[in-house]
Amino acid sequence: MELLKSANPQAEAIAESITNAIMEQRLVPGSKLSESRMAEAFNVSRTKTNQALMMLAESGLVQQLPNRGFFVNSPSITEAKQVFALRNLLEPEIIRGVIANIKDNDIKLLHEHLATEKQARECSDRRAIIRLSGEFHMLLAAMCGNRYIEKTMAELCPLTCLIIALYDVPNTPACPEDEHQHIVSAIESGDKNKAISLMQHHLGHIEKALNLDKSNSSKEFKWENILG
Ligand SMILES: [Zn+2]
Repeated sequence: MELLKSANPQAEAIAESITNAIMEQRLVPGSKLSESRMAEAFNVSRTKTNQALMMLAESGLVQQLPNRGFFVNSPSITEAKQVFALRNLLEPEIIRGVIANIKDNDIKLLHEHLATEKQARECSDRRAIIRLSGEFHMLLAAMCGNRYIEKTMAELCPLTCLIIALYDVPNTPACPEDEHQHIVSAIESGDKNKAISLMQHHLGHIEKALNLDKSNSSKEFKWENILG
């Protein structure tokens, strides 16, 4: 993910580690991110943690509240639907790009990822399953040959994990089992239409497994509670 590398590797590494914690739901929507505690935990200056948090705020994963500090973002139902609308537009294009650009090593990486996902499911490691489910889509985006899509997906996938944390119906998996496997098989056989249709169904399944109707708005995070 070349595009994401910057001249500030230390802040990047902190931002990545926070992103991982969000993807594994170790950090949930609305959690406060204390700059001083982070500086201590990562053994860096507060300037570095501030830079990392600003990067995350730019990508929408973190929200900065005036005089209150930084919090893990908490997408509303409307924002959740917007994230899925964008993913529905981008991911068929990702499949087209992957099939046009695929290299032997990419196939190998996809199979390795599927094996890791399978292992996490066998161990019922829910945190790893959620993170790996998101990373599968980021991995495909990294192979599609379009850096702008890759960058956007690196933001949308962790945001999707926050949305799942807020609106999932208990005990539903992040990405239904086996669907990634079928998408990879269709990509491998070069069947573009089938792979696109499988991806569209897959995204539909994830969205449908969430409760995103207005009657569920009680689950929407209330920033007023933090602002007191
Ligand atoms: Zn998936």
